[in-house]
Amino acid sequence: MTTRTISIFGATGSIGASTLDLIRREKDKWRVVALTANCQSAELAALAKEFGAEIAVVADESCLADLRDALAGTNIHAAAGAQALCEAAARGADLTIAAIVGCAGLAPTMAAIEQGGTIGLANKEALVSAGEVMMAAVAKHGATLLPVDSEHNAIFQCLQGYRASDVAKITLTASGGPFREWSHAQIAAATPAQAVKHPNWSMGAKISVDSATMMNKGLELIEAHHLFPVGLERLAILVHPQSVVHSMVEYRDGSTLAQLGPSDMRVPIASCLAWPARMDTPLPPLDLAAIGALTFFAPDEERFPATKLARNVAEAGGAAPAVLNAANEVAVAAFLAGQIAFTEISAMADRMLTHGIPAAPSTLDEVLAVDAETRVRARELLELA
Ligand code: NAD
Ligand code: MG
Repeated sequence: MTTRTISIFGATGSIGASTLDLIRREKDKWRVVALTANCQSAELAALAKEFGAEIAVVADESCLADLRDALAGTNIHAAAGAQALCEAAARGADLTIAAIVGCAGLAPTMAAIEQGGTIGLANKEALVSAGEVMMAAVAKHGATLLPVDSEHNAIFQCLQGYRASDVAKITLTASGGPFREWSHAQIAAATPAQAVKHPNWSMGAKISVDSATMMNKGLELIEAHHLFPVGLERLAILVHPQSVVHSMVEYRDGSTLAQLGPSDMRVPIASCLAWPARMDTPLPPLDLAAIGALTFFAPDEERFPATKLARNVAEAGGAAPAVLNAANEVAVAAFLAGQIAFTEISAMADRMLTHGIPAAPSTLDEVLAVDAETRVRARELLELA
C-alpha cells in the first residue's frame, strides 16, 4: 500500500479533529508531516505523538517551552511563530489541510500552495482576503485546491465532468443559523452563548458567530466567486434549515445537481482525503424518510445584512474583501469578549468599508498589510484598547 503524506494546520480545532478522526481510522495510509495549533501545547503534543508527526508548531511563541516539555524524549521537532508555520508548510506534503481560523492561516496556506501540492482548504478567510493573489499562486505553482467547506465541496462534486460554461446558476445553501426565526429586537440582544449554539453543525466559535450573522455565507459567496468563476450574477444563496442539501449547480438545460449528506464535516473532509476516489466514513447513511421534509427560503437581508454586504464587496473586488474579513474578525472577537452587541458586527464591517478602501493588493505582503491596517482601524472604530 502506498502511504501519502499529510500536514494539518489548525490540528487542534474542529476541522483538525474531524480530519484526524478519519486519518486515525486509516493510519497505515498516511504519514503525518506537520501538525499545528495556536497554543494548546499539551493537546498538540499528544496528537503529534499519536500520529508520529515530524514536526509540531505553535503559532504563539510563548507556548513553545510547554510544547518542548511535552515532546521531550521524542524525535518530534517543536517550533513556534509565524515563520515556523510557513517553514512547516514549505516542507510540503501530498495533502495539506488548511484549517487555521482567520487570516492568520493565509501565509502558511500560501507557503503550501508554493510547493505545488494539494491543499484541502477549510480556511475560507485566507481565500477571501487574498482572492486573486491566492488563485494566481495556485495557477503559477500548479497546486490543486480542494474545497473542504461543505458548500464548496458540494459544488465541486456537482461540477465534476461538466463545463463551467454550461452552468446557469450555483446555489449555496445556508442553515440560517440559530437566529433564523428571531426578531430584530431579539437578534440585537443576542449573547455570545446563544450565537455559538449552532442548530446543525458543531464548529469553532468564530465560524459559529459568522453563521449566526450570516457573514459566513457572505464569506462563502466570495470564496465561491474565486473557486468557481462563473460570474457573481450566477451565484445565489438559499436558506435551507435542515442542512442536508449542501449546495446545488443548475445547468443551462434545466438540470440541477445537488450534493446531499449528513451535516458532519467528516463527509466533505473525506472527499478531500480520498479524492478522486472515495473512502468510508463512520457516519450512518442519510435517512431521508426519517428527515421527511426539506425546506428552502430566500434569505432575509433586512435582519441579516451580511450577505448583501459581501456581495457588494465581491463586486468591488481589490482590497475590499480583505477589509471586510479583517473588520469581521475584529468585530467577532469583540462580540465574543462581550465588548459589542451582536448587530454591531455587520454594522461595523459596513462602516469600515465606507472608510475608504486601500489600493488593490497584488502580493501576499500587500494583502497582509491591508489586513493589519484594517485591524488597527477597526479596533479604533470600536474604541477597543
Ligand atoms: P477552531 O477554532 O475550532 O480551530 C482553529 C484552529 O486554528 C485551532 O487549531 C487553533 O489552535 C488554530 N489557530 C487559531 N488561531 C490561530 C492563529 N492566530 N495562528 C495559528 N493558528 C491558530 O476553528 P474551526 O471551526 O476548525 O475552523 C477552522 C477553519 O475552517 C475556519 O476558517 C472556518 O471558517 C473553516 N470551516 C470550519 C467548519 C467547521 O465545521 N468547523 C466548516 C467549514 C469551514
Ligand atoms: Mg460552509
